[in-house]
Amino acid sequence: MERGYPMSTKYVYLFSEGNGKMRELLGGKGANLAEMTNLGMPVPRGFTITTEACTRYYQDDHTIAADIESEINEYVQRLEDMTGKKFGDLSNPLLVSVRSGARASMPGMMDTILNLGLNDTVVEAFAKKTKNPRFAYDSYRRFIQMYSDVVMEVGKKYFEQLIDEMKDKRGVKLDTELTAKDLKELAEQFKAEYRSKLGEEFPQEPKLQMMGAIKAVFRSWDNPRAIYYRRMNDIPSDWGTAVNVQEMVFGNTGDTSGTGVAFTRNPATGEKKLFGEFLMNAQGEDVVAGVRTPQTIDQLAKVMPEVYKQFTDICAVLEYHYRDMQDMEFTIENKKLFMLQTRNGKRTAAAALKIACDLVDEGMITEKEAVCMIEPKSLDSLLHPQFDPEALKKAKPVGQGLAASPGAACGQIVFTAEDATDWAKNGHKVVLVRLETSPEDIEGMHFSQGILTVRGGMTSHAAVVARGMGTCCVSGCGAIKMNEAAKSFELSGKTYKEGDWISIDGTTGNIYGESIATAEATISGEFGRIMAWADRFRDLEVRTNADTPKDAHQAANFGAEGIGLCRTEHMFFDPDRIAAIREMIVSETVEQRERALKKLEPMQQGDFEAIYEAMKGRPVTIRLLDPPLHEFLPTAEEDIVALAKEMNISADHLRGIISGLHEFNPMMGHRGCRLDVTFPEIARMQTTAIIKAALAVRSRRPAWKIEPEIMIPLVGEARELAYVKAVIDSTARLIISEADSDMTYKVGTMIEIPRAALTADEIAKEAEFFSFGTNDLTQMTFGFSRDDAGKFLASYYDHKIYESDPFSKLDQIGVGRLVEMATNLGRKTRPDIHLGICGEQGGDPSTVEFCHKVGLNYVSCSPYRVPIARLAAAQASIKYPRTQK
Ligand code: ADP
Ligand code: MG
Ligand code: MG
Repeated sequence: MERGYPMSTKYVYLFSEGNGKMRELLGGKGANLAEMTNLGMPVPRGFTITTEACTRYYQDDHTIAADIESEINEYVQRLEDMTGKKFGDLSNPLLVSVRSGARASMPGMMDTILNLGLNDTVVEAFAKKTKNPRFAYDSYRRFIQMYSDVVMEVGKKYFEQLIDEMKDKRGVKLDTELTAKDLKELAEQFKAEYRSKLGEEFPQEPKLQMMGAIKAVFRSWDNPRAIYYRRMNDIPSDWGTAVNVQEMVFGNTGDTSGTGVAFTRNPATGEKKLFGEFLMNAQGEDVVAGVRTPQTIDQLAKVMPEVYKQFTDICAVLEYHYRDMQDMEFTIENKKLFMLQTRNGKRTAAAALKIACDLVDEGMITEKEAVCMIEPKSLDSLLHPQFDPEALKKAKPVGQGLAASPGAACGQIVFTAEDATDWAKNGHKVVLVRLETSPEDIEGMHFSQGILTVRGGMTSHAAVVARGMGTCCVSGCGAIKMNEAAKSFELSGKTYKEGDWISIDGTTGNIYGESIATAEATISGEFGRIMAWADRFRDLEVRTNADTPKDAHQAANFGAEGIGLCRTEHMFFDPDRIAAIREMIVSETVEQRERALKKLEPMQQGDFEAIYEAMKGRPVTIRLLDPPLHEFLPTAEEDIVALAKEMNISADHLRGIISGLHEFNPMMGHRGCRLDVTFPEIARMQTTAIIKAALAVRSRRPAWKIEPEIMIPLVGEARELAYVKAVIDSTARLIISEADSDMTYKVGTMIEIPRAALTADEIAKEAEFFSFGTNDLTQMTFGFSRDDAGKFLASYYDHKIYESDPFSKLDQIGVGRLVEMATNLGRKTRPDIHLGICGEQGGDPSTVEFCHKVGLNYVSCSPYRVPIARLAAAQASIKYPRTQK
């Protein structure tokens, strides 16, 4: 689509023309520089080239259009007039920094260029004028170095080598010990390096230098690191970045100058105390780069008391102004303070909670604002075990996979799920290493500290299940050479055997070939306070997906208000039970099947009773059997023989049955409610187990108002639903009346087949609730399976066809439209229909916001994401209040 850009569009703003609200146009850094300028703070003068200019740069085929270039030049002129300095002038040269600045702060973008405007003649004049040749040549060599690295992409390391050689030659340790002459020589060497790497001279014309730097900033918006970062953080690729051009101030003139960074509060703990570092006689990132050991910020009080006082006053004003903890950069030039940046500081989740609560207590913000200040996803890090940060710093990764499920795990290597279970029962901590996992591994996965797989993406079985269990998982580490038979693998040239120690970090994907200490997550008081506020503000109910009493219990502790999805099949993987379900599947007659179901019924009833107990009267939605049957079929010879014996048939005959059950596309095969249509006795058995369990718990716990919710999966047609529902009703009514009980129950359906969404008005005649099963709904709407999509989605990201994984973040445009349509159609038929979502995406904050906006009643997500969903739901309600409240 062509967007018209009238010549009147303004692409450049002086800092004094902008303000803090103009983030979208000026980027975060530019908007805040403008705001500080307006507050009368000492900010070096400059201008910002807008994000729209960046968008134009991409539309105009990676060039800066003539109209924009001339506007930039006009602002250079204005800056020259304001400062009385001039580009290339020998008596009073203008030197600037060129700094990128997107709307959201984005590591991975372009580095800043300082001292731009220096060249062979200006540097000499500058040396004379400042009477400080050392400083002048230090600035020049830094500029050549940064320009080469950032604009021309000649690696930093060549220049660092030259510096090291120079230091060796002079027999000194620190940069500051190099003399003016040394630095001048270095500048010459740098230019020679530039010439030899690029085949041209280092540019001498300041305006050329500047345009080169501006283009490099625009270009960096699309570098792979930036693209990856955007995808991980939901930042749209069409935002673009702004560029700031700012008069230089110098922290490297000598001992009366310096540079530093500071936070108004401690970003790790939240403690209300200025936190930061500075370095005398230094420039730019020297503090962070660790060229010398910096001093802590409070020492500035001794070095330069007036500057320190002025700085702390500014900190207080900024924090009060922004009503949030600030992260600031400053430079002192000959005892004069300059502010170079301020922004809301990044912080750990624990610090975020403390700061939000403190700001409320200090009367700076409201409870609603506090709730909106916390990044929901960040809570995750508080809910899983963590590596001890000191120990982690010392460790060196031996490999990396995908950060599939957050947390830290340290344990002894095992190679099978059974070993994981056995070792764990004997008191070992284990990490399960597999080529990939399958449903049979669930128990072993439960017993593992963490899971490492060679194959599989972010939505592989291992990843999904691990996230559901809140277990750390690193998936898809293709560098591992696996030898399952020998129970060993090779990684980075080392062989690891069963029992060796390993640590994996599910937050970064790092793998360590050693043991690193971990600590259980603690939930501090502030966490509870914020969550209590969030619960007051949200409209969405938050339920959990839980299949076992243990998960249900965990979720209830995290604040789940019920179970939105209890899958009944996972209970069958237990070795004691799998035989019975296999028998059911391979039955050829109703009698055979009923015999098998008789065995299963008491097991299911026991499971449901335990779940009702764990949820203490909160609502529980139980879904009838759903998965493709092949997941349960025996494959091992001894299992086949044993089953045949149990069923009193020959092994050959059983093999025949099994091969007859083969499906070409099991995901779209004989599963879900189709099983109940062909074998109503399955629905009958499951209904019996559910109703009897509810009655039993009700009689033990009369105070709990248990009302079973029975959910039918994979419905695509109202009559199909009506058929299964009739089976459920006749079964349930009989049991309830025989028990002489007044218990009521609900029957509802999953909406996970596009046809069900399209005919939701018809479906709602039968269903008392809908639960959007957005895993299946996504795969059926896109027409690709979530188990296979990992193979090609990467190319889709590379070509910007998709920006995120539709299985982890709901595709609001397509799948979301089906959800919205079905919501409206369903309510038209049945205004009080209860609507929710139970797909993996239910715990993703942007999906939660979407669910709020389309008017669902609840979201249901894995236990460890319940607090995230509660917070995201509150933020959605605050941002988009529902009118009828
Ligand atoms: P980043 O976003 O990576 O922090 P910045 O643009 O903030 O990059 O700049 C990097 C460093 O250079 C910071 O220490 C900053 O304070 C310093 N700096 C940027 N512009 C100037 C300037 N005009 N004068 C002095 N130092 C500057
Ligand atoms: Mg900065
Ligand atoms: Mg499904």
